[in-house]
Amino acid sequence: SPLIFWFRQDLRTVDLPGLNAAAATGRPLIALYILDDSTPGDWIPGAASRWWLHHSLEALAGALQECGAELILRRGKAPDVLDAVIEETGAEAVYCSRQYEPWAGDLEQALHARFAERGIEFKRFPGHLLHEPGSVRTGAGDPFKVFTPFWRACRALPEPPAPRALPEDLQWHSPLPETEDLKGWQLQPQKPDWAADWLALWTPGAEGAHTRLQRFLEDRVADYGDSRDIPGVAATSGLSPHLHHGEISPRSIWHATQAWAEEHPQSRATADKFLAELGWREFSYHLLVFFPEIPDKAFKPAFEEFPWAGSQKQLRAWQRGQTGYPIVDAGMRELWATGYMHNRVRMVTASFLTKHLLIDWRAGERWFWDTLVDADLASNSCSWQWVAGSGADAAPYFRIFNPTTQGEKFDATGEYVRRWVPELSVLPDKYLHKPWDAPEAVLQEAGLELGKDYPQPIVDHREAREAALAAYGQIKGK
Ligand code: FAD
Repeated sequence: SPLIFWFRQDLRTVDLPGLNAAAATGRPLIALYILDDSTPGDWIPGAASRWWLHHSLEALAGALQECGAELILRRGKAPDVLDAVIEETGAEAVYCSRQYEPWAGDLEQALHARFAERGIEFKRFPGHLLHEPGSVRTGAGDPFKVFTPFWRACRALPEPPAPRALPEDLQWHSPLPETEDLKGWQLQPQKPDWAADWLALWTPGAEGAHTRLQRFLEDRVADYGDSRDIPGVAATSGLSPHLHHGEISPRSIWHATQAWAEEHPQSRATADKFLAELGWREFSYHLLVFFPEIPDKAFKPAFEEFPWAGSQKQLRAWQRGQTGYPIVDAGMRELWATGYMHNRVRMVTASFLTKHLLIDWRAGERWFWDTLVDADLASNSCSWQWVAGSGADAAPYFRIFNPTTQGEKFDATGEYVRRWVPELSVLPDKYLHKPWDAPEAVLQEAGLELGKDYPQPIVDHREAREAALAAYGQIKGK
């Protein structure tokens, strides 16, 4: 009898432990993907993720076709769809990769119980992380709440297993159950098509992911340690949406980076810095598993009483990149235009929303969820809480980013702001990050009228900082 391999957030065929295990049973396989827009509740993929998902599924279907298989697409509640496909095909086993979102864990448990009653084998496999949450604990057996000791403990573990290719002698079940038309799912934006040029920026799918990794190792990793914080330079890997959708395994990235570091021993430190960023991803998943309320509730309970204050108008100005702070506006516009924002600027924009505008971090988390191609429940919620000060390993609250000095420090040449806020591009470097300080003659020469061509700052930095500290004073010590 056939075995269903249920593809989820693991849209690849290489180094997919569950698929390898499925192949090893010798049973004929059915490759199934389910679009389930009901089980995740509030956390169904946002618009940018859906764009990515469409192309990623196309790529996966192509890769499976090369192995002689067809990807079966169905829409509906996962348990109902699995029941239907089992009924149609007589399958007696369902294998899948584990997912770590709280709703996904609940679903896996429910499926386990449901299938056990009927004698259907249900197995889930690792593959999304380097180390399973739970395999890394403090000496006392508790989950880590601080990154540095967490990562030190991870690094002390044996190396994650080397990636494995898909066996060549796979058997596929026939006749195949019916499949739906991907286009009919309307995952792509309709009108307006805000993603019209995104395929020039991104290549969703496993092949695109591996090409990106190769290019990163060839051209970028050597300078990663020095340049990763400079948003105007293409210094980081851009692997996050590929990792989120499981198009490449973190083990593949780990081993390729280690091999590079062995060939370039003088660059060990930069490779380790990159691996530590994968560590932040691991840490976020680890926190999500042990503290499943993280996407919705402050990790530090006192922050549930934080006196949030900002207005809808301010939230909209932030979303549209119209705050009057060039580095913030550049980041928000990069996000809208590309589905991505540089990490340093994510921190600056998130800090601006939560501390300068005193808007609840959950409003920002939502906006990022809808607009990022790498929107990831674990990394997004943990990062937002980290910046807002409510997170597990958050920076001290009083360290409030000054958006002007952040711009001057990390975008000193102004390349990033000039790219995304072109109305400021002719301003001299000296005023690029603080156009309100430019003398009238300079503004005139640049043809720029503040308040008309580009907004005046919507809040004053010093006043906003004081208001944030006063608001924090109300919950401090609670
Ligand atoms: P690289 O620098 O090349 O890093 C390699 C990989 O490490 C990334 O692909 C990513 O998987 C992981 N990584 C790097 N930094 C972090 C981090 N701080 N936390 C967790 N993982 C990290 N990342 C997401 O993948 N999805 C999100 O929804 C997300 N939301 C964020 C929201 C805020 C407010 C902030 C401050 C950060 C957020 N991040 C998120 C983390 C980080 O900004 C991105 O992972 C990174 O910018 C992706 O670019 P890259 O692949 O070029 O990173």
